[in-house]
Amino acid sequence: MIERMLIEVRGIVQGVGFRPRVYSLATSLGLRGEARNRGAHLLIDLEGDPTSVRTFLDRLPAAAPAHSQVDEILFRNLPLAFHPNFAIVPSVSAQEDDVRISPDLATCDACLAELFDRADRRYRYPFINCTNCGPRFTITIDVPYDRHRTTMRRFPMCAACFREYEDPSDRRFHAEAIACQACGPTLRALDNQGSDLGPDDPIGAAVAALRRGAIVAVKGLGGYHLACDATSRTAVGMLRRRKRRDDKPLAIMVSTADVIRTPGELRDLLTGSARPIVLVDRCALPDELLRALAPDVAAGCPALGVMLPYTPLHHLLLSDVDRPLVMTSGNRTDEPIAYENRQSIERLGGIADLFLTHDRQIEARCDDSVCRILAGRPSPVRRARGYAPAPITLSEVAPLPVLAVGGHLKNTVCVLAGSRASLSTHIGDLESAAAYVTLAEEVARWRRLLGVAPAIVAHDLHPDYLSTRFAHEYPAERRIPVQHHHAHVLSCAAEHGFTAPLIGVAFDGAGLGTDGAVWGGEFLLTEGPTFRRMACLGYVPMPGGDVASRQPWRMALAHIRAAFEGEDEPVVPRLLARVSRRAIQSVRRMIDTGVSAPPTSSAGRLFDAVAAIVGLRDQASFEGQAAMELEAIAHGEPSRAYGWALDTSADPWIVDVRPLIRDVVEDVLAGLPPEAVSTAFHETLAATIAHVASEVAARTGVRTVALTGGVFQNARLTSLALDALRTSGLNVLTHSRVPCNDGGLSLGQALVAARILRGETEQSSCA
Ligand code: ZN
Ligand code: ZN
Ligand code: FE
Repeated sequence: MIERMLIEVRGIVQGVGFRPRVYSLATSLGLRGEARNRGAHLLIDLEGDPTSVRTFLDRLPAAAPAHSQVDEILFRNLPLAFHPNFAIVPSVSAQEDDVRISPDLATCDACLAELFDRADRRYRYPFINCTNCGPRFTITIDVPYDRHRTTMRRFPMCAACFREYEDPSDRRFHAEAIACQACGPTLRALDNQGSDLGPDDPIGAAVAALRRGAIVAVKGLGGYHLACDATSRTAVGMLRRRKRRDDKPLAIMVSTADVIRTPGELRDLLTGSARPIVLVDRCALPDELLRALAPDVAAGCPALGVMLPYTPLHHLLLSDVDRPLVMTSGNRTDEPIAYENRQSIERLGGIADLFLTHDRQIEARCDDSVCRILAGRPSPVRRARGYAPAPITLSEVAPLPVLAVGGHLKNTVCVLAGSRASLSTHIGDLESAAAYVTLAEEVARWRRLLGVAPAIVAHDLHPDYLSTRFAHEYPAERRIPVQHHHAHVLSCAAEHGFTAPLIGVAFDGAGLGTDGAVWGGEFLLTEGPTFRRMACLGYVPMPGGDVASRQPWRMALAHIRAAFEGEDEPVVPRLLARVSRRAIQSVRRMIDTGVSAPPTSSAGRLFDAVAAIVGLRDQASFEGQAAMELEAIAHGEPSRAYGWALDTSADPWIVDVRPLIRDVVEDVLAGLPPEAVSTAFHETLAATIAHVASEVAARTGVRTVALTGGVFQNARLTSLALDALRTSGLNVLTHSRVPCNDGGLSLGQALVAARILRGETEQSSCA
């Protein structure tokens, strides 16, 4: 007796070597039939004796390849078809609403061994890959994932590659990006005008240039890197000057994970197939490495951005150059990453001395992801290569497909169809016309790859964000504005599948509130589609608006003036001695009159103020820099707890930080070192968060708290707050799949919109 069964596997099942596994399993059980990709899914048509068919079904989950993600296996019987054998058939294009593409995967160990094996036919071939590794999302033009719908379609396979591609016992059986020296992409070295430097040895030319201290633009998976010798002070200084990137820390690439001495989360994150830039505390890195690095790779940063090679080209470069390299994304400051060859030479020619490039086109731009360990778990700071476009499955459903366009900084967009939320790669800060164009392109690509036409667009309340303006291309009845911190809280709820009411502690730099003030130190109670602002940090003026985020001394002055009720004359000249009297006078006027000084409850700006009062910095070259440095110097146990008060007679409750500022000022004037003040400040703020959240919990009966907003990138604050909240008996949610900063905003906006839409549907069905 024979039986025929149609099995549908859903999840990330394409481009990860699934069909070859199915082939091996089916043939080992003597089953016949075929396997094909259809739309996003894998379809297996299976025929044979019923026991073997059952065994196949039992073993299928365990046979799933390492980088796949099986969400669902559906099956049903079909009338017999009498297949002669088992075959893999070309994909059938299908209009599907949830197409899945694998993220790009770092070079696997087997390919790496071949890369350095003189006897292998792909010895030192910079584009070696297999079904377990290589480019995916960044080369995908359309779905389903097949070679002729990737940028590899320009490269007809040679006979040797084709044999491997067709051989079910081969690791490259149906590896869509398969290539070799004979048939695949070629590497070239160009000068900064784009002229070819000769075909002989592009890697040799790049290595020699790097050793000379030159800057080399290297084409990677999702764009160009600018690389230079991380041990050369001159090279790093030149890169910073040419890129006009004065202070931002630069990431480095090192050849092995041995830089991490102890195994555990950190090492796993570094060596995983996503290969993000991992922010590693200096104390976790070996002294030899820290001594070897040029000091201004990441001056003043508590953590260093470290990544391992993730393409064969990186492996070859790193092994030949034999020293750590700075690898920073190839853009001029504030522009999206460069990825098209001609355009890259135009844009980067003034920065790079040499281009190491190739003819495999990048279809989707994609920055490196950045992660750090937060409260003992990996948490993304920037979610891009290696993670995008893997979707996040919500435990709620959107009745209509939603496009959420994110915020202003660290922008991402999100398409929510049903319960599947697909977050785009990191688009960046929307501060230029170029970034707006990139946003529009990303939205278009997203819609096409997902096959979704959004009915509703969700956006921030802020009318001047470029993302909001983009949303306004849709008619008003299809737009849903979402308050910034409401979106932060629901992005955290979304990744945990949390649907019940929630106390959200949203601490960040800035977001427009419903009262027109600049919010950023919020305790929100979210329930269904709505939220209630339960408590917030007391308002102080933000002199000069956004300018204040680049001039922490302005926030110091605002907080001191509030704390001393205008009687700040005795302390200000001593604390802000580096700032001119004239500047102080003019900012005082702004504070007193409120002219161009909107009220703010921002926790990020409170960090800035304390950083400036302790004398860390008066000017910042990027938002959050002073706060980062304040975190960096905190250590050990606090000497005292600073004061603060909670005014529960107001609505919302006001967290009064004036006593805290007075204590900070007192300690600084008493000559306490900045380290001690920072330690006590972190401790006090964490205690405040726990206390206020507990009060809200007592008042409302809600027992779960989400910590969200960019301020919680601060690992010290997060773990202190987490401990204090748990001690108070509350459940705590933190971010581990999307960033707590504005990079996660689009996910939260999409969920708010989905809840609002559901509310409307339920209402109309009741009516
Ligand atoms: Zn491989
Ligand atoms: Zn070949
Ligand atoms: Fe924010």
